[in-house]
Amino acid sequence: MFSKILIANRGEIACRVIRTARRLGIRTVAVHSEADAQALHVRMADEAVPIGPAPARESYLRGAAILDAARLTGAEAVHPGYGFLSENAGFAEACGQAGIRFIGPPPAAIRAMGGKSEAKALMEAAGVPLVPGYHGADQDPGLLLAEARRIGFPVLVKASAGGGGKGMRVVTAEDQFADQLAGAKREAASSFGDDRVLLEKYLTRPRHVEIQVFADGHGNCVYLFERDCSIQRRHQKVVEEAPAPRLEPGTRARMGAAAVAAARAIGYEGAGTVEFLLDEDGSFYFMEMNTRLQVEHPVTEMITGQDLVEWQLRVAAGGPLPLAQEDLAIDGHAIEVRLYAEDPQRDFLPQTGRLDHLAFPAAGPHVRVDTGVRSGDRISIHYDPMIAKLIVWDRDRPSAVRRLRGALAETQVAGLATNAGFLSAIAGSRAFMEAELDTRFIERNEAELLPDAAPVPPEGLALAALGVLLDRAARARTLAATSGDPYSPWARSDGWRLNDDAHDTLVFRDGGEERSVPLVYRRDGYQLQVGGRQLLARGELGPDGTLDAELDGMRLRATLVLRGAEVSVFVRGVMHRVQLVDALAGADAAEAGAGKLTAPMPGKVIAVLVEPGALVAKGQALVVLEAMKMEHTIKAPADGTVELVRYAVGDQVEDGAELIGFKAGEA
Ligand code: ADP
Repeated sequence: MFSKILIANRGEIACRVIRTARRLGIRTVAVHSEADAQALHVRMADEAVPIGPAPARESYLRGAAILDAARLTGAEAVHPGYGFLSENAGFAEACGQAGIRFIGPPPAAIRAMGGKSEAKALMEAAGVPLVPGYHGADQDPGLLLAEARRIGFPVLVKASAGGGGKGMRVVTAEDQFADQLAGAKREAASSFGDDRVLLEKYLTRPRHVEIQVFADGHGNCVYLFERDCSIQRRHQKVVEEAPAPRLEPGTRARMGAAAVAAARAIGYEGAGTVEFLLDEDGSFYFMEMNTRLQVEHPVTEMITGQDLVEWQLRVAAGGPLPLAQEDLAIDGHAIEVRLYAEDPQRDFLPQTGRLDHLAFPAAGPHVRVDTGVRSGDRISIHYDPMIAKLIVWDRDRPSAVRRLRGALAETQVAGLATNAGFLSAIAGSRAFMEAELDTRFIERNEAELLPDAAPVPPEGLALAALGVLLDRAARARTLAATSGDPYSPWARSDGWRLNDDAHDTLVFRDGGEERSVPLVYRRDGYQLQVGGRQLLARGELGPDGTLDAELDGMRLRATLVLRGAEVSVFVRGVMHRVQLVDALAGADAAEAGAGKLTAPMPGKVIAVLVEPGALVAKGQALVVLEAMKMEHTIKAPADGTVELVRYAVGDQVEDGAELIGFKAGEA
């Protein structure tokens, strides 16, 4: 076995490989870009080597820099993870030349499966079933059209060099063929620098079922059953599970045998995945082979009890496969979901920024969380926006689905929009419970899975208000304690006011709507008016954001994350997100017509940003007030002119005091 390996990757897969290596007593070397200097995989590894700036092509894709790092640290082998250099035959070859073991298949096997067309020709010869289609070298448009006719519409045009669903077009009728072909070729050329295409019969209701294979250097090759990855968005996997629901044992055995034949045909070694389309009638067709470990490999580990990275390491070190085919069996059911920083409400736009708060369910025999980030880390534009994979296991599928719902309910991410709600909607859907799986699952159930953003319910709004109030009270106490005047009225959290007014209003923005929560400070809590109803809210807010709340006597525990104006509340497995609207900015808009901007609560002027006569634009900051130990900026409600400035920095102002005389419109 190796004594030290280098992981040529980042994120969750790097962390995952390090964990197995550590368990086997193998030392680990991380490589990292400048952006990842503090990343979890770097922290976890025994040694770390910087390999360049943030963009992947200047760091994680620089094979030469990675090999230098391996030489420098004396690593005997390189684990490529997935993505980046994992299917780069040139890199695998360079490793060999440098005397460093590439933990993956021989370069020739990577090349054999590199192009879809070439791979198909090889598979055809090995007797592996293919989707009826055309994958010849002749790319004459007339010939392609004739082939499409022979196959019969609908036909799928695919980039030979494709991946990630790019360069793929469904052609439903002959008169669209020329246009769609041109589109696929354009996309293929720009994405892969290769515009060759192949044609396939387009199956209207297929499932994506893939077989995990493993081969060693001693002539052994086994399959570790299948994964159903039918739940996809734009041909990208979202949910994966093993075993595939309702797969006939006979079909499983035939698919397994076909996958092993595929691996043997190309002299495979290590972990690989043979992807098939499974048609409604039980026929299956080879799609492609991924010559690496897959993102979704954990579901296979959960149902077989095997550690596939350990298998990879043993095989790469020259050992035999740990088990023979007859020793492998399926135990229970596992499901994985991919948690992404992306916004389902905005067409799944990837999100970047800081993970202000991150919490996952506790790991155990039923739940596994693979992640490469912690609270406070950033999701950057440079890499894949995956935050984590949640994997659950149980005796049978219905129990595993329940575990999945529970695990998602305990997953909390604040700071960035994520697909967590979308994943929960899938997990909670009837179609998923009943395993109505095929590759158009999401498309078909879209209305249910992507409802229009619903308003935050009264309970969520009440908790947000309570959280903000408790946080303010805690700050006031801290400040008073450190100001040397613990008896200052500011230290009171019961809404005491200079003008003895115990009323207040919190205004939140919820999507496009503003929602006010009028409130009264009481000895025993806060009387909130939410959704037309009065309720008494009280509770305690822990320093970690734990909010033990009581709403009209009902106790519940939530988690509160406050970051600037952003308020996120996690309760009962759901996140509610609102923005606290600057109270004074709200007030001035309402009073714009009256020609004066007033202070709705007592405070102290801490900045005056304009002079009388100034022409200002709508939204421009005019005065900053400190009230309740929070800063409030008073902004121009419209384009206009400042006519009067009544106070100077340091002045105390009363509730309702006119701060600025303002005239809207052209001067
Ligand atoms: P890529 O390499 O770009 O990911 P694949 O060939 O692996 O492309 O196909 C990706 C997905 O596209 C499959 O999982 C399946 O959902 C769909 N697909 C591919 N080929 C067909 C086909 N012939 N008929 C219907 N759907 C297909």
